[in-house]
Amino acid sequence: MISPKRPRLAAAAALLLVVGGAGYGITAASADDPTRPRDGLTLTSQDGAKPTTMAQFLTSVTNDVDSYWTKTFAASDLPKPQVRTRWIPAGQSVASACGDEDGRLGDSAAAYCPSDDTIYISEKFATDIYDGALDGALPGSSQGYGGTVGDFSVAYIVAHEFGHEIQDELGAFDRYGGSVPTMAFELQADCYAGTWAKSAYDENRLEDGDIQEALDAALAVGDFDTDNPGHHGTPEQREEAWSAGFQSGDPSSCAGYLDGSVAT
Ligand SMILES: [Zn+2]
Repeated sequence: MISPKRPRLAAAAALLLVVGGAGYGITAASADDPTRPRDGLTLTSQDGAKPTTMAQFLTSVTNDVDSYWTKTFAASDLPKPQVRTRWIPAGQSVASACGDEDGRLGDSAAAYCPSDDTIYISEKFATDIYDGALDGALPGSSQGYGGTVGDFSVAYIVAHEFGHEIQDELGAFDRYGGSVPTMAFELQADCYAGTWAKSAYDENRLEDGDIQEALDAALAVGDFDTDNPGHHGTPEQREEAWSAGFQSGDPSSCAGYLDGSVAT
């Protein structure tokens, strides 16, 4: 994959939002360093084991987010959210209903695809986020807004994509698809990511710096392509949406992005 600065956004928007069944990604970019296993990832799984590869880390965070939403749904007498995950090894691609013209997702993928109810994240993309290798390619950070580095910047992305799965579970795509801009779904997914982070914070499971990593990542993935139907929100809007979720700790506080009660 290539790694241009500005054209990447348009490519990502086309890939994730226009083609086929429409996916809902965070944004996508890639660099040329090979994915490599990481030590020292700090969000441990619930059995206490530390992930040692990016794939394990992605699974660990997903399980954590899943357990948060399972509890949250249960409190409202809703069944457990059901979603598949697919981590794409570096240099490989997988078939998806939200894939490119060949029906594939590869090294730039970070998306929830409603049509096949699957979260796709490229291990290379996640590793590059973790390493800070994408700051020159992401729309916000390449313009001096935020930056991505560290475990919680990856966790932010996982929780954001899971937020789209929650939207699917709650029927938001059926109810609001086509009547509100893409940005509304994106900001709500950021808000949902914030409510999960608050639950982890309240359980003393965050490290110093984790909150800042999420805020910086939200800024970094914000874009300025406001004329594009695939616009995901500016850096400030995305940071504010995550913060709103974190501060409230209540997913119902995120409803306003779709019903129009939160000005965006
Ligand atoms: Zn998204």
